[in-house]
Amino acid sequence: SAKKLGRNCYQFFEQSMNEEAQERLRIESALRNALVRQEFVLHYQPQLDLATGAIVGVEALLRWQHPELGMVSPQRFIGLAEETGLIVPIGAWVMRTAAAQAKAWHDAGLPPLRMAVNLSARQFAQPDLVQSIAAVLAETGLPAACLELELTESLFVDDVAKAVALLHELKGLGVALSIDDFGTGYSSLSYLRTFPIDVLKIDRTFVGQIAGDSDQAAIVVSIIALAHNLQLKVIAEGVETADQVAFLRRHDCDQVQGYYFSRPVPAQEFAALVQENASAATSATVL
Ligand code: C2E
Ligand code: MG
Ligand code: MG
Ligand code: MG
Repeated sequence: SAKKLGRNCYQFFEQSMNEEAQERLRIESALRNALVRQEFVLHYQPQLDLATGAIVGVEALLRWQHPELGMVSPQRFIGLAEETGLIVPIGAWVMRTAAAQAKAWHDAGLPPLRMAVNLSARQFAQPDLVQSIAAVLAETGLPAACLELELTESLFVDDVAKAVALLHELKGLGVALSIDDFGTGYSSLSYLRTFPIDVLKIDRTFVGQIAGDSDQAAIVVSIIALAHNLQLKVIAEGVETADQVAFLRRHDCDQVQGYYFSRPVPAQEFAALVQENASAATSATVL
């Protein structure tokens, strides 16, 4: 009967809720131990200048190598880390590790690159955020101009005035600021004028469609124009094909990042990539 069916559905729903809750608990308790057990690692993805083909930047992306769960994607644990507040110590580890890596690459003679680090809402709300970043720069010796903080539009919705003040403080350190996943958030274009940011990163959902979908292509072209009118640099994320590269170059996009050039890779592999790129760039065969 319909009643019985409804009951079965409910039980099924309840059971899958339980499984989901259990999975969450399992990941949460594992997450609590992950820092101590040194299960986190950073992978690095290059950002290329479209005009020269040179690698000019790099984004640090967090990976979790759990002994049983295997490689856990940030999509599966960043949200939970955010809810539990664990993102604060994890994010501090990311910042320190990425800055130390960038400094080590500079010292090893690699061409100067800007290291981009993702910042979560919870980190953004920490009262000692500015001091903690200043401390990382002092400890590692990385020049502030070589660090870029990636922020999302969601960080600005609560208290715009407070966010603007904080961004100015961060800028005061000398670091660069970018807006990640631009175009997907609850964006108000008016903030772009007042915020001391340097870079817009066009979200990959737009970039992925530019070849086939004329609306998405129009959005990408508009974001590039908007960025340039505001004297900002613009990076396209999620670039996967030669057609996308050609389109972005035709429309004067400054930088590109995506699987077409490289997936995020471990530090050693990244250093080799940069060396290869530096010798190829002189013969202009990169792109
Ligand atoms: P995001 O900051 O927008 O990073 C870009 C994501 O797109 C990365 O996913 C990257 O691997 C992926 N990607 C790059 N190129 C391509 C491409 O050509 N095609 C496709 N399909 N994907 C591409 P990932 O590493 O899984 O990270 C997902 C998200 O997790 C990040 O998005 C960021 O929001 C968050 N995240 C990663 N690391 C950290 C971190 O250290 N701290 C914080 N707070 N969040 C992080
Ligand atoms: Mg990012
Ligand atoms: Mg992004
Ligand atoms: Mg994202």
